[in-house]
Amino acid sequence: MTANHPRYTTEEIQKRVDNYIGQFKEGYFSPLSLMARLSEETGELAREVNHYYGEKPKKTTEEENTVEEELGDIMFVLTCFANSLDIDLSAAFERSIGKIETRDKDRWTQK
Ligand SMILES: [Mg+2]
Repeated sequence: MTANHPRYTTEEIQKRVDNYIGQFKEGYFSPLSLMARLSEETGELAREVNHYYGEKPKKTTEEENTVEEELGDIMFVLTCFANSLDIDLSAAFERSIGKIETRDKDRWTQK
């Protein structure tokens, strides 16, 4: 992980994305379009993972991206998704991690 950058809370991330999107008349895409965008970016992540860790080498003409870059793209689209539906990502994460911590607490080998 790179350290030479600002640290953001989810609130700051959501606000920054909202400020960016808010400059444009078009605003957020519809949920269906955002779903397609999220799938696109997930595919791009899969491509990078396959390139770095899988068996399929890239053609020399293919653009060099990174897993970090694609995870960032997914975060951006995910944040657009949450903002467009007025979902607080901290609350969403809390629900998710709470579920995982309780439901799956005996699933893995304790260190
Ligand atoms: Mg991408």
